[in-house]
Amino acid sequence: MIKVKTSEEIELLRENGILVSKTLAEVGKHIAPGVTTLELDKVAEEFIRDNGAEPGFLGYNGFPSTLCISVNDTVVHGFPSDYALREGDIVSVDCGTTYKGYNGDSAYTFAVGEISEADRKLLEVTKASLYKGIEAAVSGGRIGDIGYAVQSYCEANGYSVVRELVGHGLGRHLHESPEVPNFGRRGHGVKLLENMVICIEPMINQGKKDVYLDDNGWGVITCDHRKSAHFELTVAIKKGKADILSTFDFIENKNN
Ligand code: MG
Ligand code: MG
Repeated sequence: MIKVKTSEEIELLRENGILVSKTLAEVGKHIAPGVTTLELDKVAEEFIRDNGAEPGFLGYNGFPSTLCISVNDTVVHGFPSDYALREGDIVSVDCGTTYKGYNGDSAYTFAVGEISEADRKLLEVTKASLYKGIEAAVSGGRIGDIGYAVQSYCEANGYSVVRELVGHGLGRHLHESPEVPNFGRRGHGVKLLENMVICIEPMINQGKKDVYLDDNGWGVITCDHRKSAHFELTVAIKKGKADILSTFDFIENKNN
């Protein structure tokens, strides 16, 4: 069943959205060649707890860490580890919070030092596709409108869309209905109702769309080992224009 949220619930989800956004910005300050992904995880956990919240992913279905950190050909759900970031890597950082009984969930793919022009374009297109999806996330539309917007933009740029993982509703639970695929057909799927809260999260590959599961049972990796990017924001569906509950402004220094 798909629940629409009350305005009080939306404000609690916004508080989580802002905290998760600030956490990603804090992590972003530490991203540099030589830093291990486990060090980044510690930064996030401490920041979340210092703000009176709990890491939303830690222990979720047995997930061992605060962050999902996915480098280069890892699409999502990478484990923080003793891997030291290298100049030229791209690193997706996905963060969850639990605060006042609700959840936050957002992701950003960072460049480590100088990256190639091709990788820079992958990040730009993936992030832009997220905003294309958000433009389609309005009441009266359908879930397929969002997927179509993301997919058509990314494929027009020569990239492919991962099929095995999708966005989702967000509320008291990290993953609620409906599923929000990054591919689809306009006018198809669940109807979008005012005050539904969803996470839109394109996972976009430089090469082919195919992925496989890491031996650890979590990491999702591109079969061709080309790079993949991931950006995620939480939005409340409204008439005409979604209300975006998390933000990249802290990361991109638009807010300080
Ligand atoms: Mg996420
Ligand atoms: Mg998510």
